[in-house]
Amino acid sequence: MSLRFYNTLARAEEEFLPLDPEGRRVRLYCCGPTVYDYAHIGNFRTFVFEDLLRRHLEASGFEVLHVMNVTDVEDKIIRAVRESGETLQGLTRRYEKAFSEDMETLGCLRPQVMPRATEHVAEIIAFIQRLERNGFAYQAADGSVYFSIEKFPSYGRLARLDRSQLKPGARVSQDEHSREAYGDFALWKAHTERDGSIFWESPWGRGRPGWHIECSCMSMKHLGESFDFHCGGEDLVFPHHEDEIAQSEAATGRPFVRFWLHSAHLMVNGQKMSKSAGNFFTLRDLLARGYTGRELRYALISVHYRLPLNFTMEHLDATRQTLRRLDPWVERLGERASAADGGARPEWSGALWRAFHESLDADLNISEALGHLFEAVRASNRQMDDHRLAGAEATGLLSDWRKIERALGLSVGHLEEAPPDEVIALARERDAARKGRDWEHADELRAAIRAKGWVVQDLPGGHKLTRL
Ligand SMILES: [Zn+2]
Repeated sequence: MSLRFYNTLARAEEEFLPLDPEGRRVRLYCCGPTVYDYAHIGNFRTFVFEDLLRRHLEASGFEVLHVMNVTDVEDKIIRAVRESGETLQGLTRRYEKAFSEDMETLGCLRPQVMPRATEHVAEIIAFIQRLERNGFAYQAADGSVYFSIEKFPSYGRLARLDRSQLKPGARVSQDEHSREAYGDFALWKAHTERDGSIFWESPWGRGRPGWHIECSCMSMKHLGESFDFHCGGEDLVFPHHEDEIAQSEAATGRPFVRFWLHSAHLMVNGQKMSKSAGNFFTLRDLLARGYTGRELRYALISVHYRLPLNFTMEHLDATRQTLRRLDPWVERLGERASAADGGARPEWSGALWRAFHESLDADLNISEALGHLFEAVRASNRQMDDHRLAGAEATGLLSDWRKIERALGLSVGHLEEAPPDEVIALARERDAARKGRDWEHADELRAAIRAKGWVVQDLPGGHKLTRL
């Protein structure tokens, strides 16, 4: 079956084929956290969905390059700096660290690149100059530089804006604003008194980058001018992603992103969970109530990403019960698998994994995928009750379960299996090959590691091995 995703740009499901001519590498950009406070569980719904997408792409044999930016200068951050008296760097690094810890608690794979906005200011300035040269940017009387949406006729395509509402010359300097109030948006914000000592020198005077331009600049720097996936919560469709498309395509004249994927909100009593509504839980609040990262991950992942998820303590308790059915099943299979009783029927060999994986191929249809899993749990438990499950069948089911556990990221908080020596040796040999720039041999070794059931991930200064 082909891999399909719902593309917000087309408002339809489309077949996914990577832009890489070799069909192997997939480039994924996810809008990251704004680091001025702890992220809430509604934010993490999006990050966990993106992690599921990445894991499914990897399980489908693609090599995923995953980039997530860190917004470390922005209106809300500047306010927090002013109120706390901390330095910009002190405050943002503290919350960035907390964010990484929370992502780890939730079992999310770390993106290979996490660029910070403040470390790309020179590149952002060059990007805005490119837009100026192409005739899309201008400096207004307030000293800020704006993008002229009149010059970009397809502005509004992603959010389906009514361009007849456009008032030429209208400008918005806030990063976040409503669909009704759209106009030219800020690329570079002139320094004001409220910004205090937070500014950079630029050809347009002192100021700082807008939020939208940072994502265009950093995604294209790390993933190229056109790439496969751009993801975020549905509230980012407008204005953030609309503006990113305008900036990027006006700069390059090329299509920016192939697939736009957006996750639905997390709801509390029918209202969107948000900082401004005050109805939010941080991950830490819920850990303090005794829930585990694994339970929270499952609760966030088990409802399809495009459906609103109503977040209640009852939902979390139901999740706990569900996981409590899985763990004894896995234990029981382990005991059964050690029985050397021959007589295996092929019924379970790989069928569960195939059905689970194919469900996820259809725009990550998690409900159907989990349905296959729990059907297998019921049926095989019954067979074990009746002493009808052969040892080899239990082994087959266990191997399927390990792949599913990996795809769902559910091993978090469970003891991770240590890689065998031969896999460690292959990974070390691959590090040496990469050092010697022998990419072909490095790729062969990656395949050899994969054939042994492990995935090698390159990290700065080494590698990480995880179970396939
Ligand atoms: Zn972004």
